Amino acid sequence: RGFCGPHGQQPPLPDPQKIVATWEAISLGRQPVPEYFNFAHDVLDMWSQLEKAGHRPQIPAFWWVNGKGAEVKWNFEELGEQSRKAANVLQGMCGLQLGDRMMLVLPRLPEWWLVSVACIRTGAVMIPGVSQLTEKDLKYRLQASRAKSIITTDSLAPRVDAINADCPFLQSKLLVSDSSRPGWMNFMKLLREASTEHNCVRTKSQDPLAIYFTSGTTGAPKMVEHAQSSYGLGFVASGRRWMDLTKSDIFWNTSDTGWVKAAWTLFSAWPNGSCIFVHELPRVDAKIILNTLSRYPITTLCCVPTIFRLLVQEDLTRYQFQSLRHCLTGGEALNPDVREKWKSHVGLELHEGYGQSETVLICANPKGMKIKSGSMGKASPPYDVQIVDDEGNILPPGQEGNIAVRVRPTRPFCFFSCYLNNPEKTEASERGDFYITGDRAHKDKDGYFWFTGRNDDVINSSSYRIGPVEVENALAEHPAVLEAAVVSSPDPIRGEVVKAFIVLSPSYSSQDPKKLTQELQEHVKRVTAPYKYPRKVAFVSELPKTVSGKIQRNKLRNQEWGR
Ligand code: ATP
Ligand code: MG
Repeated sequence: RGFCGPHGQQPPLPDPQKIVATWEAISLGRQPVPEYFNFAHDVLDMWSQLEKAGHRPQIPAFWWVNGKGAEVKWNFEELGEQSRKAANVLQGMCGLQLGDRMMLVLPRLPEWWLVSVACIRTGAVMIPGVSQLTEKDLKYRLQASRAKSIITTDSLAPRVDAINADCPFLQSKLLVSDSSRPGWMNFMKLLREASTEHNCVRTKSQDPLAIYFTSGTTGAPKMVEHAQSSYGLGFVASGRRWMDLTKSDIFWNTSDTGWVKAAWTLFSAWPNGSCIFVHELPRVDAKIILNTLSRYPITTLCCVPTIFRLLVQEDLTRYQFQSLRHCLTGGEALNPDVREKWKSHVGLELHEGYGQSETVLICANPKGMKIKSGSMGKASPPYDVQIVDDEGNILPPGQEGNIAVRVRPTRPFCFFSCYLNNPEKTEASERGDFYITGDRAHKDKDGYFWFTGRNDDVINSSSYRIGPVEVENALAEHPAVLEAAVVSSPDPIRGEVVKAFIVLSPSYSSQDPKKLTQELQEHVKRVTAPYKYPRKVAFVSELPKTVSGKIQRNKLRNQEWGR
């Protein structure tokens, strides 16, 4: 049976170190991907056996809290049992079979992890979405993906019902709730009644595992498809090296379940035997995050830079994080100022990583590697990452260009299969031997990558190309600035100029805006090349962001250009 022998007759128990090392070697591209691979059977059920044989410390595999006293803890055996029950619900009650698609729109509830694993056990393709989806978003996603089934909670169910008639492919609806709703099956009830016996389907490594709608930071979300092995094996090495995860670690990633980062955690933590910690976190609240870190033995933390920007505003001397030993961030650029504040207050580095829904980890600052403040680190194997021009030619160190991943002669196994139903877009994403990320950076002579910005966010003023991130970082160093977004704005002489939208720290909010504008402009001129200073400044109460917490510069830019 593929990787681990035939169903029902498990081969002799391997040494956990050896088995993780094998997965890591595959994930690094040093060993071939097996023909058959199923994450639930080959990884989770293996850990269940290792756990039974005493090869894992007495920590859960999954630990959920809601901050109001409720708690769920599963070891790998319990996770196996619960997810087999869930798989029986998907297969038996929803009729899902290999290749059928299921939308998962759940807040941070244990059921999200259960149903994700259950999808893998049944071979159903999971399509996570965020709970903030509107009727229009849901309709677009359900129609585009032709999902056969959806699972969600009471708050979203009415929105699904409102567009149900326009989604002919949707055949079954599961509700995670204590109450019932006409037209919906109650997942909790079905789960209680389901059998724990389930035969995991035999998936090929190339069979689809998940479809992700991109964050839509710059346009309509695209459907990105990943194969079973792409995610199932593609994160083992970065889980080990960047996240520094082992079987003794308790890993908390605050990401929304609808965003690709939640999957990154799942597929990084569990192969390495680590525990996934989840706080329901109905809204982002710095104090809740800091209290949770103090209260629970969390060893590893991952938050988007936006959250770290909030955390460093708090009085961190009031908290003690007894178990915390490794911190990660990614998803957008980390301001060096925030990294330095976190380090000085908490005593731990912030290890930044860079990647996309289309990929696994592209660049990172793994544990032990020297960090250069402001850089997103070096290429993460097995990717060959280069800076290329618009024709796909590799540019020398120091020169700014497109961040690109080599896909020829060999496309990495841990890579999206395609933009679903969009061959033109898939083809347009490649130039020469490379996949073009749509982001720009330069690489220094030591191989460190320095992010300029998304292609569309780069500002062209009097033929100077200005990356928003550098200007935002400069602004962030000023104590008046809580957050900043820098975009282009029309100008009759220069064509376009730099405009900064700034959220002020509370203690500066009553200062004279004219004086403050001048002070901030002088500050930027001092800390970066003077031509980059924002000629226009606007003070705002908040910045437009995606649900995953990323600044939507395109919204501000469109507003400026009257689009
Ligand atoms: P869409 O493609 O629909 O516009 P999106 O690109 O925001 O959405 P994701 O795939 O979730 O959707 O995000 C990946 C992008 O996030 C990267 O291409 C990059 O622009 C940004 N990003 C991720 N990590 C970092 C980082 N460490 N530094 C700077 N930017 C980052
Ligand atoms: Mg993108």
